[in-house]
Amino acid sequence: MTQDLFREDAYLKECQATVLSAGEQGILLDRTVFYALGGGQAGDSGVLVLSDGRALAIADTRKGKDAEGRATADIFHVPAPGQNFTVSFGDSVVARIDWVRRHKLMRFHTTTHLLCHLVPQLVNGCSITAEYARLDFNMTDPLDKEQLTAGIARLVAAGLPVAVGSISDEELDANPALVKSMSVQPPRGTGRVRTITIGAAGAGDAPVDYQPCGGTHVANTAEIGPVVVTKIEKKSATTRRVVLGFAAAGT
Ligand SMILES: [Zn+2]
Repeated sequence: MTQDLFREDAYLKECQATVLSAGEQGILLDRTVFYALGGGQAGDSGVLVLSDGRALAIADTRKGKDAEGRATADIFHVPAPGQNFTVSFGDSVVARIDWVRRHKLMRFHTTTHLLCHLVPQLVNGCSITAEYARLDFNMTDPLDKEQLTAGIARLVAAGLPVAVGSISDEELDANPALVKSMSVQPPRGTGRVRTITIGAAGAGDAPVDYQPCGGTHVANTAEIGPVVVTKIEKKSATTRRVVLGFAAAGT
């Protein structure tokens, strides 16, 4: 099992860790700041720095899989191909993520939660990368690109706090409407389910968004900056896809 430090603090850029194994699935550490692909969010890349200063490039991060293919609590760091050394059991390393890339993932992930506020329909697909993010809504009505971009800009300008919390499995079972995604399962497994709350726009208002989520987020919507809706696609008769991108510099 890998202690997932990003769960409590998405701003950790590196940590000391010990190699537990290095094999086919990748490199297993006792603790890490690397987020493993899941919940629509891409896995982190970065480096593992050995005590002699050599840095092993990590291209991706994945959850471990058991014999039945179910995700485990192990987090595997997948080395980039073509490197002439690796790490082995017991090595002490500094695990350091590509922070510039991760921060983009955080900005996009929080924006997808803002979209859940702007578009109240259920989500049936989600992909968050460092270049773009897309969210598929289960709906037949058209969506307006400019209107959604303006809605995001308003919530970003409001500078709303984003807080990590948790509820029990039983509380989630009693409130199934908290789950806004048909495609991403809430992060269960420990008896507690992690939640993300985006603060209310005004005193006495309900939070802008509140849902179970295992991903990494910015601490305040102001940090999202200039994210815009680049495209709206009719994926199918019952699916509208919203694609997010970063506004080009100077526009
Ligand atoms: Zn999320």
